[in-house]
Amino acid sequence: MQYNFLIVGAGLSGCVLAERIATQLNKTVLLIDKRDHIGGNCYDKPDAAGILVHQYGPHWFHTNDKDIFSYLSAFTDWHLHEHKVKTSVENMLLPIPINMDTINQLYNMKLQTPEQVQQFYDSVRVKEIVHPQNAEEMIISQVGYDLYNKFYKNYTIKQWDVHPKRLNASITARIPVRTNQDDRYFTDTYQGIPKNGYTEMFRKMINHKNITVALQTDFNTLSANFNQVIYTGPIDSFFQHQFGALPYRSLHFEHKTINQEFYQECQQINYPNDFAYTRIVEWKHATGQQHPQTSITMEYPCKWEQGKEPFYAVQTKESGLLYNKYRKEADKLTSVKFCGRLADFKYYNMDQVIARAFTFFKKELYSPYIRKNSVIFQHFL
Ligand SMILES: Cc1cc2nc3c(=O)[nH]c(=O)nc-3n(C[C@H](O)[C@H](O)[C@H](O)COP(=O)(O)OP(=O)(O)OC[C@H]3O[C@@H](n4cnc5c(N)ncnc54)[C@H](O)[C@@H]3O)c2cc1C
Repeated sequence: MQYNFLIVGAGLSGCVLAERIATQLNKTVLLIDKRDHIGGNCYDKPDAAGILVHQYGPHWFHTNDKDIFSYLSAFTDWHLHEHKVKTSVENMLLPIPINMDTINQLYNMKLQTPEQVQQFYDSVRVKEIVHPQNAEEMIISQVGYDLYNKFYKNYTIKQWDVHPKRLNASITARIPVRTNQDDRYFTDTYQGIPKNGYTEMFRKMINHKNITVALQTDFNTLSANFNQVIYTGPIDSFFQHQFGALPYRSLHFEHKTINQEFYQECQQINYPNDFAYTRIVEWKHATGQQHPQTSITMEYPCKWEQGKEPFYAVQTKESGLLYNKYRKEADKLTSVKFCGRLADFKYYNMDQVIARAFTFFKKELYSPYIRKNSVIFQHFL
């Protein structure tokens, strides 16, 4: 059978684009993934005890974008839930992002107003750093060395195996520091988990007569030619690493079921200084599932090598330059287009991936399509 499009990767980017092409352009899509399931890193499934577990680490959905939330809501109901995370520091479980309660509990203080908390940050932060050049400078310019050492430094080293001084400032620019008692991990308007899980949501999204899914199908082993390919995998892998491999971090997950109703007080506890794992996640807090037992996952960052999943792009000055070389090669191609977290070598949250896929669809596919004589679509019309 002939397809109008081949999409490589049935993760969030691939599924959103397949859905848009099938429903908005009425074109056919072959959606492939080398893994044995759809959903990419958002994939979840019930474990042996029947507890829904995210297989590749916690995926807390959050967005301020009403359109993105409405789009996903066409394929799922929600368990609306404000995500809460604690950090284990000096045998205390403290709110993260750092807020008024974190400071009061850690330093045994009695700060009562946001102004007092701001004064505290001002008294400890490194004021000389006005334009932070790296992740360490970004944090110490906001909260000083002690909080940096206790909460961020070792967590970052465990996570990235790179000293924060070598990481781009943008990595930690995402971490807010609060002066009030707000203990939500995110402040976005829409937060939650798809009621019946991400996999079920993806299943509905791509359940269309124009979409054919082929799992355990690696693009690198396909022999057929396609006029129009959308590639959502790692960009360096597409070009057979011709300029060298981009750096990624991988993860190892230890999933466990425990014979008690709950294990810890919230959905996620971070361990910056103790243990080889970075966090323990207890799923039922976030999914709202009722069950007499509970399941937890310990997450261990590890070196990425061939055969392991490239979970995070390690963004340093050097990797940015290497990525630009691949980007230039990608821009020369007319029949292959690149979209997604690994294809763009960026950290995107789920809502950012959807926003990126929408923009890509509009600019690269929909606009050329409605301009009837578009070169891209001559093959298919
Ligand atoms: C541990 C972790 C936790 C996260 N937590 C959150 C969170 O709490 N909130 C949030 O908003 N975001 C979170 N994210 C980000 C979220 O996972 C991503 O934004 C999203 O999954 C990216 O979707 P994608 O389709 O671009 O990439 P992916 O999910 O990586 O999908 C790409 C797909 O391409 C396939 N593929 C690659 N190469 C080939 C090939 N040669 N042939 C065939 N298939 C191929 C892969 O198997 C994969 O399924 C997290 C990410 C990670 C790694």
